[in-house]
Amino acid sequence: MKARRRTGPTNVVKAIVHDRDGGACVRCGTQNHLTIHHRVNRGMGGAREEWINQAHNLLLVCTVCNGWFEDNPRESYQAGWKVRRPQLPSKVPVRYADGREYQLTPDGVRAKAVTR
Ligand SMILES: [Zn+2]
Repeated sequence: MKARRRTGPTNVVKAIVHDRDGGACVRCGTQNHLTIHHRVNRGMGGAREEWINQAHNLLLVCTVCNGWFEDNPRESYQAGWKVRRPQLPSKVPVRYADGREYQLTPDGVRAKAVTR
């Protein structure tokens, strides 16, 4: 095994994501037990892609929903909580707890998605 480097987002990016998502889980809206979720998974060499740890690939979620995404991949991909390569996280809108879909940008902006 290769030596593991720290490959997570910086504290600055985490703070941006926390603010963008209003300090609440994007799926259920809770403010408890929050963590940062990667829409496109790291791993399989993916951590070298610069956008992996940028805001549009990250969501503020609770630990319950974070596990739910892994157990319910089909719904998670549909809602944009997970994104499947080679799709890019900037291209796939995300459903938030208010039931609307938003487009995310690398610099931490959340804009209402154009209706598909
Ligand atoms: Zn949640």
